[in-house]
Amino acid sequence: MTPEEFRRHGHAAIDWIADYWASLDELPVRAQVAPGDVRRQLPATAPEDGEPFEALLDDLDRIVVPGLTHWQHPRFFAYFPANSSPAAILGDLLSSGIGAQGMIWATSPAVTEVEQVVLDWFADALGLPAAFRSDGPGGGVIQDTASTATFTALLSALHRASGGEARVGGVGDAQWRVYGSTQAHSSLVKAAMMAGLGEDAVRTIDVDPATQAIDVDALRDAIVEDVEAGRRPVMVHVAAGSTSTGAMDDLAAVAEVVRERGVWLHVDAAWAGVAAVCPEHREHLAGVEAADSFVTNPHKWLLTTFDCSTFWVRDRDALTGALSILPEYLRNAATESGEVVDYRDWHPQLGRRFRAVKLWAVLRTYGLSGLREHIRSGIALAGHVADLVAADDRFELVTEPVLSLVVFRLRAGDEQTLAAMEAVNASGEAYLSHTTVNGRAAIRLAVGSWRTTRHDVDRAWRALQEAATQA
Ligand code: PLP
Repeated sequence: MTPEEFRRHGHAAIDWIADYWASLDELPVRAQVAPGDVRRQLPATAPEDGEPFEALLDDLDRIVVPGLTHWQHPRFFAYFPANSSPAAILGDLLSSGIGAQGMIWATSPAVTEVEQVVLDWFADALGLPAAFRSDGPGGGVIQDTASTATFTALLSALHRASGGEARVGGVGDAQWRVYGSTQAHSSLVKAAMMAGLGEDAVRTIDVDPATQAIDVDALRDAIVEDVEAGRRPVMVHVAAGSTSTGAMDDLAAVAEVVRERGVWLHVDAAWAGVAAVCPEHREHLAGVEAADSFVTNPHKWLLTTFDCSTFWVRDRDALTGALSILPEYLRNAATESGEVVDYRDWHPQLGRRFRAVKLWAVLRTYGLSGLREHIRSGIALAGHVADLVAADDRFELVTEPVLSLVVFRLRAGDEQTLAAMEAVNASGEAYLSHTTVNGRAAIRLAVGSWRTTRHDVDRAWRALQEAATQA
C-alpha cells in the first residue's frame, strides 16, 4: 500500500466507522448468529496474494457485522459498558500510526512522559490522593485491564509483605491470605491463582444482604483468626462498585482494619471510579487516602476505547521491586541515571503501546466538563429507569440503584425474570444481563453508551414491559 493508497483507504475506513455508527439504531443489539456461522463464511487459509483493501470492508459488512453484538449501540445495557468515542478512536489510530513501543523510557521518551502527565491529570480529576502522582512516591500507569492491575497489586503486596523474598524464592510455604467480599470481581481469585498462591488463598467475606457491601467486622475477625493461626494476610480487595450490583464497600472502615495490620489495600473501582470526575460522586471513595493501589477503567464508562485501565500505586518502589528486571539488551544510560521511569517494571509484560494518546485525546477533546456531563447523563437516565421500575407493580428494585446501574426483577419469580430478559435480548431491541442477588435472579441495566438517550431507555423499558406480559 503506497502512502497515497493508505490515505484513500484510511478515509474509507473512517467513513466505514461513521456509517456503522449511523446504522446502529436499526441493528439488533445482540448478535443473531449461531456458533460457527461466522467461521463458515471465512476461507480456510490466508490469501496467497494480496487483495484490494475494499474486499476487507465488504467482508466486515457482509460477514462480521451480523456476527457482532454492538457494544456501541444506544440500547446496549448489558454487563458494564465498554464505550468508545470519536476522540478516543482517533487517538488510538494516531497511536497505531506512530507505532512506538514504549517498554522503557529510552525506546521512546514521549510515550512514557505523556502517560505520566496524563495519569497525573486524571488522578487530580478524580480527586485521588497526591501520593499517587508521579511527582510523589507513587505514580500511575495504564494497564490493559483491571484484572492485570489487580494481579500487579497482589505481586506488589507480596513483595512488600515478604520483604522482597517473594521475587527471589517465590511464595514458599507461607500461608498467604487475600481478602475480598463474596461480591469481589473474579479477577481477584485469578490473581491469586496466577501469583502461585492458589484460589484457596482468597478468603471471601460475607456482605450485608441489603447493600451487598463487605461486612467489615467479619473482615476484621477473619484477619485476626488467620494471624492467630499463623497465616499471613497480604492484601485486602475493596470493591468501589461491585460487578453484580455496583455495591460500594466501606473503604474508610476497611482502611482502619488494614492499617492495624499493615496489609496492602487495593481498591477496585473498575467501573464506578470514573464517576469521581464529578465531585458529587466522590463519596464512595472516602478513605482512598489509605489505599496502596487503585484501579479504574476509562474503557468502561469514560469514552475511551478498550483497552485503557488506569492504575495507581502509593509507593512505586513496592511495584518496581516486585517486577523490575534488567537484561543486558535493555541496559541504557537513562535507566542507569535513575532519572526516568521504565514502565516495563510496572506490569507483567515488557512491550507496551502508546495507549496514553487515546486518553489524552479524550481528556482534551471533551474536557473534564464534557466528561462530567457524560457521567451525569448516564446517572440521570438510570434514575429514570428506577422510576419506571417503581411505577410498574410487576417489577421491583433489588438493590438501590448505584450511579448508572439499576438492578431489578419481576415479582413473579426467577423464571419469569430471566424469561423476560431473554425475550428482550432475543428481539434485538435492547441488551441486558443478569445476576443473582441473595440467591435470586435479577436483571442488570447499566447505562453508559455515549449514544444513549431517554428515548432508548424508554424503548428498552417498553420491550421489557411487553416481555413481562408474556412471561
Ligand atoms: N473489577 C470490576 C468491579 C469489574 O466490574 C470488572 C469487569 O466488569 C473487572 C474488575 C474486570 O475488568 P477488566 O475487564 O478490565 O479486567
